[in-house]
Amino acid sequence: MPKKITFLILSGPTKEYIDPVRYVSNESSGKMGNALAQAVLKKGYEIIFISGPVNIYPKNVRLIKVTTALEMFKEVKYIFKKTDVTISIAAVTDYRPFKTYEHKIKKDTLTSSIELKQNPDIIRYCGKNKKNQVVVGFALETEHLVDNAKTKLKNKNLDLIVANGTESFGADNTTVKIISTDGVLEIKNKNNKIIARKIINETIRIFKNIKSGKNIYQGV
Ligand code: C5P
Repeated sequence: MPKKITFLILSGPTKEYIDPVRYVSNESSGKMGNALAQAVLKKGYEIIFISGPVNIYPKNVRLIKVTTALEMFKEVKYIFKKTDVTISIAAVTDYRPFKTYEHKIKKDTLTSSIELKQNPDIIRYCGKNKKNQVVVGFALETEHLVDNAKTKLKNKNLDLIVANGTESFGADNTTVKIISTDGVLEIKNKNNKIIARKIINETIRIFKNIKSGKNIYQGV
């Protein structure tokens, strides 16, 4: 059994700047990312934590701060292959402005539309390129929670996906569904710490299964 498991956690939002002042972003407090880091540290494993801009960052991790999705992706492409378990709760902005202006755009020259370009799907890259590694994603959905999350599990080739609704934004207590090809486990109205511990235990269990040859999740 492996004694050392290296975790890569992606957390926080990304900000995609239109000009030095204005940006496109997603809602994310970084709270659950922090709770996941605490749960991993309690187990004594190493963490590389890549985070977009938030107010709280975990201590005792190798912290890499990024702003944009492209910056996060660049770090992940370099680090991913050296890690065992990757978990992304990052609220990666799906699109970035086609052009970032060097200077603040004057209000009277602002147009009512901004041309956008799709960002890379970082966790999908990890899912598609994993080699005896565990890759976990989150799915925030406003409808068809389980079905949409299951589609993402498959399309991104994940081992596990944690589905939740918008009520989880910045919350200390929330309800999640932990979904794998094994089934769906609901954790109702529990503290982030408890949920994080459960997710980490589950990922470690999957990783140990892969390492011992019980390769039940890879290549879903
Ligand atoms: O497709 P959707 O954004 O709902 O998927 C959510 C999962 O995918 C999360 O784990 C999120 O961190 C990850 N993701 C990503 N890169 C993107 C978009 C989402 O890694 N560009």
